[in-house]
Amino acid sequence: MIVQRPLAAQNFQHSLDDPEELAGDFGLIFFRPHIPELLAGIKYPISLTYENPTGALTMSMLQERMEQAQAEAAEHPEISANPSNLTLTLIVIGGLAVLLIVVLRFWNGKKVTPGKTEVAEKGTTTDTQGPKIKVADTDFCSNCGSPSRVGAKFCPDCGKEL
Ligand SMILES: [Zn+2]
Repeated sequence: MIVQRPLAAQNFQHSLDDPEELAGDFGLIFFRPHIPELLAGIKYPISLTYENPTGALTMSMLQERMEQAQAEAAEHPEISANPSNLTLTLIVIGGLAVLLIVVLRFWNGKKVTPGKTEVAEKGTTTDTQGPKIKVADTDFCSNCGSPSRVGAKFCPDCGKEL
């Protein structure tokens, strides 16, 4: 389980027991508690509190920072950002937002986030691009039309020299 601190959060406090603190891209902070034994039927209450005076959403802030980074990368192509990392970050954030919603719903009875929460941000549109699958290059036999690997000397099907 991982708890993400919203980017706009101030005075973020949690009840996690001595969690590992992880720093992500664009100033994101995550907390990963160590729960050695998750027993069935036992409830582990978690409470999160923070203030969000600006009301800004993590997703919109993240979008801004990513666009900024992309603009900077465009100005300095030698340190170009890795697009797959950005996509991954978005996917991770989306997953974490969903997880946070689940956690907060589950422990709704506990004190949860005075001020504005931003757990409803999963509807935000993002320009995520799915991973592109690279298809191996193929040639086709001029005799029988069977596909063969590029560089192959003979057709795997009819045996004709390519
Ligand atoms: Zn052939």
